[in-house]
Amino acid sequence: GQGGRGDGGLTHKQYHAARFIEEDSGHGRHSGITISPQQFFAPEIQAMHNATSSDACPVELDGVVKRYGNRTALDGVSLRVEPGITGLVGPNGAGKSTLVRTVLGLVKLAAGRVRVFGLDPQKAPRQVRQQVGVVPEDESAVPGLTGVGMVRYAARLCGIPAGEALRRAHEVLDWCDAGQERYRPLETFSVGTRQKVAFAAAIVHDPPLIILDEPTNGLDPIERKAMLGRLVTLARDHGKTIFLCTHVLPDVQAICERAIVLAAGRVRLSGSIDELTRPALPMHRVEGTGPLDTLAAALSSAGIAASLVRTSRGPAVEVATPAHGDTPAVLRAVCQQAREVGVGVRSFEPAQRPLEEVFISSLREAEAAQTPEV
Ligand code: ADP
Repeated sequence: GQGGRGDGGLTHKQYHAARFIEEDSGHGRHSGITISPQQFFAPEIQAMHNATSSDACPVELDGVVKRYGNRTALDGVSLRVEPGITGLVGPNGAGKSTLVRTVLGLVKLAAGRVRVFGLDPQKAPRQVRQQVGVVPEDESAVPGLTGVGMVRYAARLCGIPAGEALRRAHEVLDWCDAGQERYRPLETFSVGTRQKVAFAAAIVHDPPLIILDEPTNGLDPIERKAMLGRLVTLARDHGKTIFLCTHVLPDVQAICERAIVLAAGRVRLSGSIDELTRPALPMHRVEGTGPLDTLAAALSSAGIAASLVRTSRGPAVEVATPAHGDTPAVLRAVCQQAREVGVGVRSFEPAQRPLEEVFISSLREAEAAQTPEV
């Protein structure tokens, strides 16, 4: 009855991407030693699924420092990941995968405290991994194993009995819209199907926390939309905590409620997307047709601070609006001036900074603040 045998001869290393391999004790380097499935997910811990306190914060880091030799990968990271969808963004080498490995208890820390649903991943790695589903960036195809075989194997690793594992595998693959291709060998899959199977394998044990690394990589627009839609459903309808590591800012803008920007091992920015994209001063953006530059000038001479800006949808006029003041009065003035200068107003909406601009400026600040390495 232990999981992992008679399921296609899959080694643990093949199943879990190399980056999630446990680290050797003393030397701060990958040891290359893999964890056996029995060590990773023992059947008896299935019972612990509900043992953790459901109101504990899903992920909490406090002053976490991780060094590889004299390179500091995480430099005093403190953060909380709450239920809902949180985006983790940052340039290559920022420390994102080290952070994920930290949450899974796979790295030895120089300092700091980590809690996953109130548990210390260093002390209780199996219980923690039972609560987490990870979709690695480059799930390797295992020759000979079918899609359904793969997901069933993942369920078996979590201690789910064989029959139940097969039932769940089909159920979750149905939900992921994997059709008959589930019966084909993994190595024949398109990137999109491989991503679906990796995702299904990560969530087959119904974990409350799901961590995804670049889940929309290589997906076509329809598949991408479907994948993002599934994440939204899991968060909104099933109360899951989703931690999305990505370079794709439109994905973050589309589905994340909060974002964390990591650069050079430090949290540079974190907060709700609304907070992060709110301009320093309250503004409204006017879009329309006609001479928008003349409108901006006319508003300015009428005593309303206004400027012409370029947006992804074309030129617009941004006008200062009082924080708790009379926005309708500003709108009336805009409409009046627009009539006078021959502008047809199409929309008048609160201005938001594009997420990309917010992130890039925070990364520039991080770069400027970074002390050169020896
Ligand atoms: P990201 O996932 O954001 O690209 P990583 O967490 O992989 O960042 O890496 C953070 C830093 O730690 C980088 O400078 C990287 O070179 C270094 N690093 C990561 N893993 C190791 C390792 N096993 N040995 C030595 N240095 C490492």
